[in-house]
Amino acid sequence: MLPRSQPAAQALISPVDAGPLTLAGAVGNSYRRRMTRLLSKLPTTCPPEPPRDCPQCPRLVAFREKHRTLEPGWHNAPVPSFLPTSGPGDVRLLIVGLAPGLRGANRTGRPFTGDYAGDLLYETLIDFGFARGTFRADPQDGLTLTGAAITNAVRCVPPENKPTGDEIKQCRPFFSATLARFPTLEAVVALGRIAHEQVLRTLGTPLARAPFAHGAVHPISGSRGTLRLYDSYHCSRYNTNTGRLTRDMFRSVFQQVSDDLAR
Ligand code: SF4
Repeated sequence: MLPRSQPAAQALISPVDAGPLTLAGAVGNSYRRRMTRLLSKLPTTCPPEPPRDCPQCPRLVAFREKHRTLEPGWHNAPVPSFLPTSGPGDVRLLIVGLAPGLRGANRTGRPFTGDYAGDLLYETLIDFGFARGTFRADPQDGLTLTGAAITNAVRCVPPENKPTGDEIKQCRPFFSATLARFPTLEAVVALGRIAHEQVLRTLGTPLARAPFAHGAVHPISGSRGTLRLYDSYHCSRYNTNTGRLTRDMFRSVFQQVSDDLAR
């Protein structure tokens, strides 16, 4: 792990009371036990990985088929979650993106691999000890995750990176099954508002009780368990080029996650 030279995030702590749930901010073994109970209650009506020809979103299926014809060497299918080589059993951190980029994950088949967004994400994960190796924007680069996993709120590439509300909803059962597969999960980093809302809706938390804001931390806890949701602007080229997200802003979110997981 490289030195953590960046200051801790000035996080906006936003405790969330999800309906009948109560607030808690504790960490440690009891925190992890409550987390396990929360995730074990999630509905899992489908497997965590969609089938290659998932038919649920007609517009995305048409887009997928078009690119299978145009670019037969590309992945052009739902992009599976990126897991540590040890499997899902020791994942404590889940990073949730929006959806595969057309020439990124949709081309290569690995989340955040092949376009700009992966450069900042994987550099940061390596620096904070959540990944090992060298990121070369290629699924064969040998990069591995450590205690972390990466997925997307929507598994198929949407035109212009904009899934519709119904497409986000259609993919939610796969996201729910993804969350439920991590028995030791403690933290989720949502990259952007759509990822943030997919997490909240999956956990049954009203959106108004945990508004999206870069740097916010939402402890969602109660009788069924606890989860910390960390918000960040998406690490897209657009956001970094416009200055909406700087490298330091992004690293501060992961500094906060790292600090909390170390307690
Ligand atoms: S976005 Fe999700 S639900 Fe829709 S077709 Fe792709 S895998 Fe299926």
